[in-house]
Amino acid sequence: MKYKKFTALATAAMLLMTGCSGLPKERDSQTYTDTLFDTVISVQILDSVDEDVLKGCETLCKKYDAMFSRTNEDSEISRINSAGGVPVEVSDETVKLIKKGIYYSELSGGAFDITIAPVVNLWDFQAEDPVPPSPEDAAAAAGHVNYKNIVISDNKVSLSDPEAGIDLGAIAKGYIADRLKDYLEKQGVKHALINLGGNVLALGTKLDGSDYNIGIQKPFDESGNPVTSVRISDQSVVTSGIYQRYFKKDGTIYHHILDPATGYPCKNNLYSVTIITDSSLTADALSTTCFLLGYDRGMKLIDQLDNVDAVFITDDNEIHYSSNFQK
Ligand code: AMP
Ligand code: MG
Repeated sequence: MKYKKFTALATAAMLLMTGCSGLPKERDSQTYTDTLFDTVISVQILDSVDEDVLKGCETLCKKYDAMFSRTNEDSEISRINSAGGVPVEVSDETVKLIKKGIYYSELSGGAFDITIAPVVNLWDFQAEDPVPPSPEDAAAAAGHVNYKNIVISDNKVSLSDPEAGIDLGAIAKGYIADRLKDYLEKQGVKHALINLGGNVLALGTKLDGSDYNIGIQKPFDESGNPVTSVRISDQSVVTSGIYQRYFKKDGTIYHHILDPATGYPCKNNLYSVTIITDSSLTADALSTTCFLLGYDRGMKLIDQLDNVDAVFITDDNEIHYSSNFQK
């Protein structure tokens, strides 16, 4: 099980390819690092700023963790999930994010489903000796997954199936990265790199005006080596990959991107999907959605969208770029 813990850290650490000019050494820049959202996060500010700005990032991250976490029983999401179908009043931001989740659930025809919580609850990828749930238990939980069960009226959210539950794990980090960016911009920051467990957002360029070079991890490579990289400024790069959270049992890999039809990990020929676009929320949502749609439908969706690029890695370790990708 040793590799399991490694993967979370590798994912967080994976993306910034070092040795590039224009990026100050760690000690010159100001960095907030933490373990939140089930992963390692960092916000690296390259401009000189007051210490309070880092504190502000921490406050923001903790606020969102307390709002969106499925496992924190006081969060707004947990209160909706445990209300037994009774409407719960939540913040504007939670309503907005749930609506985004519903949008991608509809867009994918339910392959992505923001009410996946009953299924997610059956899988403990961090356990010392993880075991898959029985197919019967998984199928029973999957029977409660249907985003159409979410009823929103103003700021009140309820679930028409009391056994249903919302899980924002596929989109929350993207949303939070965008909010951190807004906050940093308001504080006058022009150059920063936000990395929420591999969900990367570059604010501006490096100090010398050049792009950041963000590595895409080689699937299952324990040393976190990149297989390729993308150059970005003022954009986000987000990867959904089966190596990010998984366990292996009797030779089978069980990963965290789950099929709402079976309650078991989604089976296709993909190792990972990386999305590059302006909004980190869009990148986060699309990376998970495209993974669940599979290579053909996922790539077709990307090619229909403006200003969105993608890199798919299939299980033969081939790298596939979307049509407009500039190498
Ligand atoms: P990401 O790492 O952004 O691709 O999101 C993966 C996370 O999304 C998982 O850890 C679950 O919390 C959640 N998730 C898993 N399967 C689905 C699904 N079919 N639809 C929506 N969210 C999912
Ligand atoms: Mg995602």
